[in-house]
Amino acid sequence: MTYRAEYLWIDGTEPTAEIRSKTKILADGEEPGIWGYDGSSTNQATGDKSDVVLKPVFTCPDPIRGGNDILVMCETFLADTVTPLPTNTRAKAREAFEKYGDQDFWFGLEQEYTMIDPKTGWPGGFPPNGFPAPQGPYYCGVGAVKIHGRALVEEHTTLCMNAALKISGTNAEVMPGQWEFQIGPAGALEIGDHIWVARYLLYRVGEDHNIEISIDAKPMKGDWNGAGMHTNVSNQKMRESYDAIIAACEALGALGKPEEHLTGYGVGIEDRLTGAHETQRYDQFSYGVSDRGASIRIPWQVARDQKGYIEDRRPNANADPYVISALMVNTIGAALA
Ligand code: ADP
Ligand code: MN
Ligand code: MN
Ligand code: MN
Repeated sequence: MTYRAEYLWIDGTEPTAEIRSKTKILADGEEPGIWGYDGSSTNQATGDKSDVVLKPVFTCPDPIRGGNDILVMCETFLADTVTPLPTNTRAKAREAFEKYGDQDFWFGLEQEYTMIDPKTGWPGGFPPNGFPAPQGPYYCGVGAVKIHGRALVEEHTTLCMNAALKISGTNAEVMPGQWEFQIGPAGALEIGDHIWVARYLLYRVGEDHNIEISIDAKPMKGDWNGAGMHTNVSNQKMRESYDAIIAACEALGALGKPEEHLTGYGVGIEDRLTGAHETQRYDQFSYGVSDRGASIRIPWQVARDQKGYIEDRRPNANADPYVISALMVNTIGAALA
């Protein structure tokens, strides 16, 4: 029997890269090997040097097709097969991992997203010619007036579980039509692999529901919450001592570090990190226990237990999880070495 492998990779779309995929039929027992595609159609190559090489780095069951079919997350390389494309952000996460991987980093990412009605271009729950009632009842809400798109969320969650991704929860968000899923705790490379595959499954299941998924950081201007990707992170020392927790916070606030991190935290970060809607301003840095208006929140249980993890609340929903984990591992890894 033959089977199908859906190869996934990150493209060169600007300003925010997107996931692409195509199908390869494999013989029974055949491993998914190196493959390629036309990079001139993905903003990653010119027509005369168009071949991009795909190297499989993570596979899991394809929960949509079922059977023996699989999903194959890939890294992208030039035709020499060894030079990563500039858009191969996982290669940079690998470098950080090789340097500081022995510190055993764990990540938990909270991926927020917004469901868009393709007919109106408006988020789910927004009437065609106006606005829903102000924010307040929607977060973790229940009921037909408050909640839109739960069927899609349930289906996506089941797919992630059946793909053996480390999905750890879901919730309805503050703005109507906005949702969140969490992946973690997962390793420094694993977190990016799982988030990108979970995003693919989300867009894919959106096709079946005729709902477009947006990871835009501020889909509705005005008094509506933006969409983030809070990044919970720890290493071995942080899971053992509060001094290491504080050292990690200080490292993230050190001279030049907030600016460096914000460049990797997604497009439109100034529009989302305004100081309102549970954010700290993009040009200020702070950390605090239970503080959802800080850049970094130390969860109350962590202050009580005097060990655990921290939450960087700054990354946008449209950030690249490989970029986030590379930044975190390099900054915290160097400080706690
Ligand atoms: P919030 O209260 O901010 O909404 P969530 O429950 O949505 O938090 O997400 C918390 C995330 O933190 C989960 O993905 C969880 O797996 C992750 N997490 C828990 N413990 C750790 C840890 N020690 N290191 C890193 N991440 C962790
Ligand atoms: Mn959350
Ligand atoms: Mn959230
Ligand atoms: Mn959070």
